[in-house]
Order: sequence, then structure tokens, then C-alpha cells
Amino acid sequence: MINFHYARATDVADAVRQIAADPRAKFIAGGTNLIDLLKEDVERPSRLIDISRLPLKSVEETAEGGLRIGALVPNSDLAYHPLITQRHPMLASAILAGASAQLRNMATTDGNLLQRTRCYYFYDTATPCNKREPGSGCSAIAGLNRMHAILGASEACIATHPSDMCVALAALDATVHVAGPAGARGIAFSDFHRLPENTPQCDTNLQPNEIITAVELPARGFTVNYSYLKIRDRLSYAFALVSVATGLELEGDTIKEARLALGGVAHKPWRDPSAEAALRGQAANQSTFTRAADLMLRDAKGFEHNAFKIDLAHRAIIRALTQASRGTPQSQSNKKIR
Ligand code: SF4
Repeated sequence: MINFHYARATDVADAVRQIAADPRAKFIAGGTNLIDLLKEDVERPSRLIDISRLPLKSVEETAEGGLRIGALVPNSDLAYHPLITQRHPMLASAILAGASAQLRNMATTDGNLLQRTRCYYFYDTATPCNKREPGSGCSAIAGLNRMHAILGASEACIATHPSDMCVALAALDATVHVAGPAGARGIAFSDFHRLPENTPQCDTNLQPNEIITAVELPARGFTVNYSYLKIRDRLSYAFALVSVATGLELEGDTIKEARLALGGVAHKPWRDPSAEAALRGQAANQSTFTRAADLMLRDAKGFEHNAFKIDLAHRAIIRALTQASRGTPQSQSNKKIR
């Protein structure tokens, strides 16, 4: 049990002031991950700054034809919001693939982006973990690593990012809007999360004194030819072993535009421009999809318990692209994979 102060932010400027004044403070909104981290003694904040009442709960159209999603929109509200289901059904599908209904009701957009890895050792303070305690070592590399990364890992950390929603946001080229003492800025989604390198304690490029205010989606959505395919150990309430978010724009049988992102395989949602380039201008068929899968996974490396994920990811990419090209996206209510 640790003691901490509790404070409520009155507006975004006040939230920035409070977090900038105390480097050991943490924001709390839905708390679906942070409360676990407090209970496990992984996080020991001096102060919890409650941002749950800030007016960041709307989804609005932008002048450019995109959508601006407030940082505190609950995951459930976002998944069923008419503008999201009509324009970005891939995002709605990815959200519904994650967690449980109860968790989605509490979890917020910004919290989804900032959730920590579910590496077992990260939550076990009796074991070394570079992400929890830099320099202590990584228990997963020679330990149980079934859920761990096959792409972009380092000698310091092989953890994966657990979000489903973020995989779709990466594929959709979202932008993360943040505010801090130096003002507001936008971060391209592909630059928001980090690879572990030798500083795995840093999950993102958000500065410690900044707050997420919104996530913006561009006008381009994939309303017909898309899929979010999630492969997990059980069909309900489990993190992805591998997931695939994909969107295609087809002209006849030819792929005009392609997006492809993987979840469950790296420290961040994984995109590879060469794989998407290999899809554009090609016929939407098995050999094109196989080539894209080959490129996505060309640098994949497995560990003792997770090497199976390389083949699994290869098959999942081809399956998801096939679902998207046929206009038969993976259903998140009937999770049977067709
Ligand atoms: Fe910690 Fe990362 Fe190693 Fe897991 S994989 S034990 S989070 S350093």
C-alpha cells in the first residue's frame, strides 16, 4: 500500500500545470490498467490527477473531412459511434475485439494508447524487468515468452504492445494531439509508440509533462474492403497472439490503396511501407497477399516459446487481406474465422 495525493484537473491547462509540477504524478481517467499497476506495486505515483471530468468526450468532424476523437471518449462509445461505424468500421471492429464489455465501458481513448505491456514479468516485482526497473535485466528473453515480440525487439526488452484499437489507428494514419507547457502539437501515430531499443521504460514519445487531448482520423476510411482479424488463445477477453488490421481500395480486381498493420508482434503496432507498396497496383489475389506477408515478416525472429507466431502471422495476414478483398470483414460478435 502506498500513499498518494489525489487532485482533480479543472481544465486541460490545469492538468498540464499539475503534471509539470510533479514528475512522479500520473493522470487517471478510466483506470483500467493503472489500478492494476498500483495494486501490483509496479506504479508508485506521488499524486493521481483525475482528468475524467475534462470536456474531451466528443467525436467531431474536422474541416478536412476527418474526425477528431476526444481523449476521454470511452472505448464502447467510440466503437458504436455512428460516425465511426459508417466511416471507419475497421476501428470499430478493432475496439470490439479488445477486452470485455465492462472494461470497454470504463477505458478511454487516451488510456488505450497509454496502456502498458501485459508481459508477466513486468507485473511481477520479484523478477528483473528493464521496463519496470531499467538495468535490472529482462526475465522474458530466457523465460516464458509465448506472448512476446517477433519484430523490433531489443536485447533489453521483447515486450509487445497489447492494444487492438491502436493497430487500427496505425493502419488508418491517425494523428495524436497533445498539449504541454510548450503548447499543443500533433504526433503521427507511427511515431507515437516506440521500439524498446535500450530504453524500454519509455513506451511512447509523449513527454512526461504532456497530456493527450485527441486522436484525429483523416478523411480516408476503408468502408467496404477492410478487416480486423485477431488470433488469441481463447475467443473472449484475451490479448492478441497476432492481429491484423487491413484496409484496401479496389478498382475492379486491382488494389489502388492498401494499409496493413500487425498487433501482438512488437513493442508498437507494426507497419512496413514496403509491404503496402507491394500490394498497390497488384491484383488482389493469394500470390500478392503472400508477397506482402513475406515482406512484413522478413525480419521476424522468434524466441523459445513464440516462434510459432511467425507462421501464424503469415497466415493471418493472408487471411485478413482475403477477408478485406472479398468485403467480408472478420465479425467480432461471431468470432469464427472464415
Ligand atoms: Fe520487462 Fe520487457 Fe523483459 Fe518483459 S520483455 S521482462 S517488460 S524488459
